[in-house]
Amino acid sequence: MNLTIPGARVVDVRASLPRHKTLRYGRRKLTDIRSAAIHHSATLSGSPEAFARYHVGTNGWPGIAYHFVIQKDGVIYWCNEPEVISYHVGNSNRHALGICLVGDFRTQQPTAAQLDAANRLIQHLQVQIPTMKQVFGHQEYPGYASKNCPAFPMGTFRTNYSQFLQKAVGKVDKPKQVPVAISLNGSLLSGTGFLQDGVSMLPVRAVANAAGGKVEWIEQTKDVRVNGKDLNEQILTGSAYAPARELAAALCLQIEWDGSTNTVKLRG
Ligand SMILES: [Zn+2]
Repeated sequence: MNLTIPGARVVDVRASLPRHKTLRYGRRKLTDIRSAAIHHSATLSGSPEAFARYHVGTNGWPGIAYHFVIQKDGVIYWCNEPEVISYHVGNSNRHALGICLVGDFRTQQPTAAQLDAANRLIQHLQVQIPTMKQVFGHQEYPGYASKNCPAFPMGTFRTNYSQFLQKAVGKVDKPKQVPVAISLNGSLLSGTGFLQDGVSMLPVRAVANAAGGKVEWIEQTKDVRVNGKDLNEQILTGSAYAPARELAAALCLQIEWDGSTNTVKLRG
């Protein structure tokens, strides 16, 4: 796992944190991870060392509960490999990666530096762990509705994260975008897609509607499905774009690329 994150400072403390003498956490594949779980430390201040000491010494756990701890100054401490199944969201531990922001947000606010570091960390992890599509607060996991963690509104957190992602996508991708025309059974569609790193990205709703496919938009997770198939979509200015081949497969369409006119030709 590469943890060089532009604009953020990551300190690797995996080898130095207190661990249980004999107990060890179980391990998983990266593809088992589905969500990032956001926590607060519920302490006014603290450190990965202090949390690890408490989790091992008082709780008797194999090691610190979290994979990452973000201090108030925005420094990110790397505490467990993502493959480690640590204890932080009960029955959901196997599929969740724990990120703890230091502070007690019942009475304090996370700092701007912490929130910025959290956005950068989650974005970086989602690139390396594409199955980690969702970001939930501790209390949004089954069985934890009454747990006041992370004690700030997760809806706002996710909205800010989406805006952060859109800004990042806009900065990186706009100069590279070449428009792509789309035809379906010989007729040009009014919507256009774009080329990105050699892949045609097509507007999901326009193409699916023209082809009679079923589009589902899952607001909470910003996930788009076509005929029940999950796509590696990108959200740009409020519309979802998906790789042409994935979209064609979900709609059971044949696909052909005409490089002379930059047109994706769909048939079905
Ligand atoms: Zn928590």
